[in-house]
Amino acid sequence: MAQAPVAQAPAENPYDTAVAQFNAVAERIGVDEGLREVLRHCKREFTVNFPVQMDDGSIRVFTGYRVHHNEARGPVKGGLRYAPYVSIDEVRALAMWMTWKCAVAGLPYGGAKGGVVVDPRALSIRELERLTRRFTAEIVMLIGPDEDVPAPDMGTDAQIMAWIMDTYSMMHGHSTPAVVTGKPVPIGGSSGRYEATGRGVMFITQEACRESGRTLEGATVAVQGFGNVGSVAAKLLAENGAKIVAISDARGGIYNERGVGDIGAMMERAPARGFLPDVPGSTRITNEELLEMPVDILIPAAIEGQIHAGNADRVRAKMVIEAANGPTTLEGDRIMEGNGVYVVPDIVANSGGVIVSYFEWVQDLQSFFWEEDEVNQRLERIIKKSFREVASLRNGGGMTLRESAYTLAVQRVVEATRVRGIFP
Ligand code: GLU
Repeated sequence: MAQAPVAQAPAENPYDTAVAQFNAVAERIGVDEGLREVLRHCKREFTVNFPVQMDDGSIRVFTGYRVHHNEARGPVKGGLRYAPYVSIDEVRALAMWMTWKCAVAGLPYGGAKGGVVVDPRALSIRELERLTRRFTAEIVMLIGPDEDVPAPDMGTDAQIMAWIMDTYSMMHGHSTPAVVTGKPVPIGGSSGRYEATGRGVMFITQEACRESGRTLEGATVAVQGFGNVGSVAAKLLAENGAKIVAISDARGGIYNERGVGDIGAMMERAPARGFLPDVPGSTRITNEELLEMPVDILIPAAIEGQIHAGNADRVRAKMVIEAANGPTTLEGDRIMEGNGVYVVPDIVANSGGVIVSYFEWVQDLQSFFWEEDEVNQRLERIIKKSFREVASLRNGGGMTLRESAYTLAVQRVVEATRVRGIFP
């Protein structure tokens, strides 16, 4: 099975980053101390250690997590990650970021995330299926269309979502497509979901260029990551006039000032999803070098903590579009702000995935499916509106885009909590 490459563990504890980001906004907008304490914590944290029979008959125990951060605005939503470095703190951070991401986009969801500590590439397809089905059975009491709706993330894909949907359906005695999103289209997946995060990154880049008086036509772009998000974003940006001069996978990248070539063709020739094919005529660069290339736009589309105190000063891009979750540490952010880099935060820039997940859930609940054009148009409308709301709030208050996005998100979650009240 095609899997995204698995990069190394993030350098900084992502949960510390997530809490500090929240604390700063809560302080500025004056969130009540008790409510701050609520939102700093994840509401529900579930750890499972479960056995899987391997192809050779041996039994291995795997550890998995499913974390719900907050459900004030609706059922919780968020991806499921398979990677060897997954930790409870990483999953907590990702769950909290999902709460803000859904709130900024105006989706009726709270935030969740899950993960299994495993290198999916090291398993056979049958082992991966058994692991997924057993993990689903272990968390079945947490998930459901009205409770918690998982989706793909790093190391997981539509096939894995199909096994989750099937396992959940078998255990409930009827087909329940709305229990996960990012499924294959024939079993209730949405047209356009595979490309949605990358397409959203493209729409956001267009808006960010427009807002900052730049032009996407001819702009040079470096993309870190060739997984679902990086590859699709690069392809669509190129189709919309940008020049992709650098791109990488977990092993390293390539640079060519004239453009690295036809991204769509590279996706077809990729040895596996997430891996770059051989591209003659380009210079090999490391992932660290890619972040420091002299480009107009830098798109980190891999993992957390890539732009940090040690390298943020060397980021030469004028604009950073955070396609990954949490690619910038707090210190990295401060340094780039000081250097006048225009940063579009992850909770806005990569929200295209969960926006189309929302469309998929709505389509499943109604058993009424939309054409891809309609999906893409609605995505464009919602994600650009969300960007404009964030940008206009910032213009009024001298904030960074990250600060205004967090302000909007936290205000929406606080408001939902306030009107609902604290039970009992
Ligand atoms: N894993 C994706 C994210 O981080 C998608 C989540 C979803 O669609 O629920 O945004």
